[in-house]
Amino acid sequence: MEKEIIIASNNKGKIREIEDILKGYKVVSMKELGIDIEIEEDGETFEENALIKARTIAKMTGKLCIADDSGLCMEAFDGFPGIKTARFLGENATQAERNNYIVEKVQGLPREKRKCKFVCTIAVVIPEREEKTFTGELEGYITTEIRVEGGFGMDPIFELEDGKTLSEIGTEAKDKISHRYKALVQLREYLKSIM
Ligand code: IMP
Repeated sequence: MEKEIIIASNNKGKIREIEDILKGYKVVSMKELGIDIEIEEDGETFEENALIKARTIAKMTGKLCIADDSGLCMEAFDGFPGIKTARFLGENATQAERNNYIVEKVQGLPREKRKCKFVCTIAVVIPEREEKTFTGELEGYITTEIRVEGGFGMDPIFELEDGKTLSEIGTEAKDKISHRYKALVQLREYLKSIM
């Protein structure tokens, strides 16, 4: 029988990456369960926000739930936008507007000052039993221009050591190195030990 995991997210990019990495598990989205709610992410860390999301859906379903909270942290700007990566320009801004803003912010800076990392924390909540978080990071640099549209979110403005962006290397290569991959590998080991 396939083992089921409920994911407290409707972000297609994230769900696809999670499904790819957690092969052997059936990943069920909130949408598939008919759950249509906005969860307020009012925590102060990636861990707190991931737990808030996973707890909410675990409570509603009574089942094992996972949630991902992720974002971009720029070294020269004290970790900005961090946990606010999805909403630092307000709720109605588009991804393209956020990407343009970030690229503008680093204009004129040498590569070293454009250093940044993606962080991903995955929370797992088993109702009445256990809560855990796993975190992965990927280091890189903000690009000086948006090079390739594609990938999701900020993939087109996140450059690796070799100069290629995450959208240029494609999803298969990204899934072997990403912050989300590193967090999910830890989750996979944990799940293996309990189910
Ligand atoms: P949240 O985890 O839903 O709060 O959103 C985090 C935001 O960080 C996303 O909307 C993206 O803009 C960005 N982000 C997180 N992980 C990635 C990634 O793997 N690629 C590109 N952008 C990402």
